[in-house]
Amino acid sequence: MDARELIFAVSASPGQTMAGQPIGDMDAEYATTIADRAMRLMAQQSVPATPSNFAVWFEYSLGNSLALRKTIDILIAGKRKFDPAINHELYITYVAPQSGGDPLSDLPDQLSGLIATAQQFLNTAVTDNQTHIKALGEVSSEAAATSDPRTIIAKLVDELSKATTRAATLEANFAATSEELDSIRDSLKAAEQRSNTDALTGLANRHSMDEFLRLAQIAAMEKDEALSVFLIDIDHFKKFNDDYGHQVGDQVLRLVAKVLQEGVREVDLAARYGGEELIAVLPGADLEVCTSVAERIRRRIAEARLTRRATGKEIGSITVSIGVAQFRLAESAEAMIERCDRGLYQAKRLGRNRTVTETELEPEAGAA
Ligand code: GH3
Ligand code: MG
Ligand code: MG
Repeated sequence: MDARELIFAVSASPGQTMAGQPIGDMDAEYATTIADRAMRLMAQQSVPATPSNFAVWFEYSLGNSLALRKTIDILIAGKRKFDPAINHELYITYVAPQSGGDPLSDLPDQLSGLIATAQQFLNTAVTDNQTHIKALGEVSSEAAATSDPRTIIAKLVDELSKATTRAATLEANFAATSEELDSIRDSLKAAEQRSNTDALTGLANRHSMDEFLRLAQIAAMEKDEALSVFLIDIDHFKKFNDDYGHQVGDQVLRLVAKVLQEGVREVDLAARYGGEELIAVLPGADLEVCTSVAERIRRRIAEARLTRRATGKEIGSITVSIGVAQFRLAESAEAMIERCDRGLYQAKRLGRNRTVTETELEPEAGAA
C-alpha cells in the first residue's frame, strides 16, 4: 500500500463490519460526547428519553451501524414522526439483537440437548447390538439343529441386513449431530475472536494485548531476548473530530490501525490500547529496532493524504506521537508502558509528530 495515496470513504466502508463498538472500549469523554449528541437529536425529533430509545440514538450517533444510520436519516428526511411503534421497531431491529444475541448465552441449552441426543444414539446402538448378537445366537443354535445351510444363510443375511439398516440410520443421525457440534464450535470461535478483537479497528483489544505482553515478557526472560513496545497517540485528535465529525475520526483511527498492522511483523502484536491510543509489542526487538519500526510507521501516517471519497476533497493529514521502551528484566508491564507514556508526552511537548525513546527521556519534574 502506498500511504501517500490513501483514500478512505467517509460515508461507507465496504466490507467493514457494522458491529457496534463495545462501549467498554470507549473513553469516558468520547462516550459523553456521543451521549450528548444522542440526547440533542432525540429532543429535536421529540423522541421520549426512555432507555431503549436512548440506546437507539446513542448507536445512531456513534455511527457504527450504517443500516441504522440510513434508516433514521430516511425517516428524518421523510419528516416521519418517531412514534412508539417506530421507536420500538428501531430498537428491536438494530439494538436488541446486538446486546442480547450472544451465541454463547444459549450454548448450555444447545449442548445439553446434544448430549441427550448422543446418549440416546449410544443407548440405541448398544440395545441394537445386543438384539443382533442375540439373533445371531439364535441362528447359531438353529444351525446345530438343522442341516439345511440355505435356511441358515437366509437368516444370517436377514439379520445382518437389519443390523446394517439400523447402523446406517444411526450413522446419519450421528452425522447431523456432529454437524451441529461443528457449528457450535464455529460460534465459540467467533465469540472468542470478538472478545480478543477491538470492533472499531479490528486490532487486538486491550485484554488480549495484556495477555500477549505477559507471555512475551516470560519468553524474553527465558530466552534472554529483547522485547520492546511502542505507544501511539494521534495528535490533536479532538480538534480533528471537532472539525470533521466523529465518523471521519473513526475512519482515521481505522487508517492508523491499518498502517500500524501493516508496519509490524507477524510475530508482533498491534492492539488498541484505548480511545485513540494504539500499542505495538515487538518480541525480539531491542530499542533501536523498535524505534526504527515506530519511525517508519509514524512517517507513513504523516505522509497519508486524507481524501473524502464522497466529495473528493482533501481534508489534510494527521500525525501521531510515539513513545518507545524496552523491557527490563523482571519489571512489570505497567512500568514498561509507563516509560512509553512518558516518551509519548515528551514527544507532544516537543511539538508532536515525533518518536521519543526511553533513552531520550528528560528527568521527571521533581525527580533527583
Ligand atoms: P494530543 O495531540 O495532545 O494527543 O491532542 P488530542 O486532541 O488528541 O488529545 P487527547 O489525546 O487527550 O484526546 C483524545 C481524543 O480522541 C478525545 C476523543 O474525542 C477522541 N477519541 C477517543 N476515542 C475515539 C474514537 O473511538 N473515535 C473518535 N472519532 N475519536 C476518539
Ligand atoms: Mg490520547
Ligand atoms: Mg491524542
